Amino acid sequence: MDFQLNEEQRMFKNMVHDFADQRMAAIVQEWEEKGAFLEKNILSQYAELGLLGITLPEQYGGAGLTAFEAVLAIEELARVSPIAALPVFETSVGPIRVVEMFGTEEQKERFIPPACTGEKLMAVAMTEPEAGSALTDLTTRAVLKGDHYVVNGQKRFISGGGHSDAYMVYVRLSEQKGAKGIGGIIIEKDSPGFTFGKQEVFMGLHGMPSCDLIFEDCLVPKENLVISEGGFAFLMQAFDVERCGNATMSLGIAWGALEAAKKYSQERRAFGKPICEFQAVQLLLADMAMKVEAARLLIYRAAVNAGLGLPSIYESSVAKCFANEIGKEVTDMALQVFGGYGYSKEYPIERMLRDSRGWPVAGGTVQMQRVNIAGAMLGRRFNQR
Ligand SMILES: Cc1cc2nc3c(=O)[nH]c(=O)nc-3n(C[C@H](O)[C@H](O)[C@H](O)COP(=O)(O)OP(=O)(O)OC[C@H]3O[C@@H](n4cnc5c(N)ncnc54)[C@H](O)[C@@H]3O)c2cc1C
Repeated sequence: MDFQLNEEQRMFKNMVHDFADQRMAAIVQEWEEKGAFLEKNILSQYAELGLLGITLPEQYGGAGLTAFEAVLAIEELARVSPIAALPVFETSVGPIRVVEMFGTEEQKERFIPPACTGEKLMAVAMTEPEAGSALTDLTTRAVLKGDHYVVNGQKRFISGGGHSDAYMVYVRLSEQKGAKGIGGIIIEKDSPGFTFGKQEVFMGLHGMPSCDLIFEDCLVPKENLVISEGGFAFLMQAFDVERCGNATMSLGIAWGALEAAKKYSQERRAFGKPICEFQAVQLLLADMAMKVEAARLLIYRAAVNAGLGLPSIYESSVAKCFANEIGKEVTDMALQVFGGYGYSKEYPIERMLRDSRGWPVAGGTVQMQRVNIAGAMLGRRFNQR
């Protein structure tokens, strides 16, 4: 076991660190205030630096690196803002990995290269108004008629909704109930019968598009089916790596808050000396550091063990659950270090606290992660019905 980065990983991490500080930090406030989305011209900067498709094969334009390098990049960017980390997230641990792992050659050639250039991003659409944690209750139906699937249904809270060009939509392909009837199909933005609901206004993550997807007799070429009926387990396997990305969003935010608190505690004075000289503040900083370090190790373990493949459900769920929990705690502690200024919009801490709150819900709630962990630990699947 080696806890050091190798030379290439160190250089890569430093490069992303500088990009985050020098290019992205300046526009975080704009996303926050205007809820503006990442423009295509910004995405091309990510592409130039090799930050899109980090884990995707080189033959399709990716960098051919492992989940660990993707995690390193997401962590560095989320330290500044999770919005800045989204393009890496979507193209390295997002649903494009389903295409890479399980798609046909034609699908790989069609969807992976434009993801690596930032021309066509793919979002994942699982959740429905009546199927969140109980995902296998989903009712969006795809029926094959001739050369097309006719899709009807509605998806909710889809990150990238309205902005992404393609959607990996979990659909029911037959009348079979539960997981058995579910598969995955790519639905492109301009497909007939596909519209978007209004943009969500979330408490945080401003700048991340999110909306309902509405399918009304939506026509999708049959070649877009990636996972056929009965392949729900494949969708979930690929989702294990997305879980690592979600965990890393929490880690990055927490780390950013810790760094800000460290700096502030050495500058802010009370009773004639810097507040870092008070033991109560030192204890806060030490507790924050322990939480961040522990989350980092859990995420790195899951990602390193995944390598070029996918992580285990146990390691990815442990990492996600823990990182999601400490993300909330550490940002809250950082706010305390900042005193009244932490509560003010003049400083980034209140944004970090709000941004940290989305990840314990997105990608499967922390309660559902605990259900996964217990199931994997005991070697059983517990029926929640
Ligand atoms: C910021 C954000 C981004 C998101 N992005 C996407 C996206 O890109 N694509 C997508 O498809 N979805 C996305 N979602 C939706 C997300 O996956 C769901 O919100 C989540 O799975 C929970 O579903 P729900 O909101 O319907 O809550 P519910 O399932 O109604 O759960 C409500 C509460 O009950 C608890 N609960 C439910 N069942 C159990 C159980 N068996 N045991 C213990 N507790 C239980 C939950 O943990 C939760 O606390 C996003 C959500 C957010 C907030």
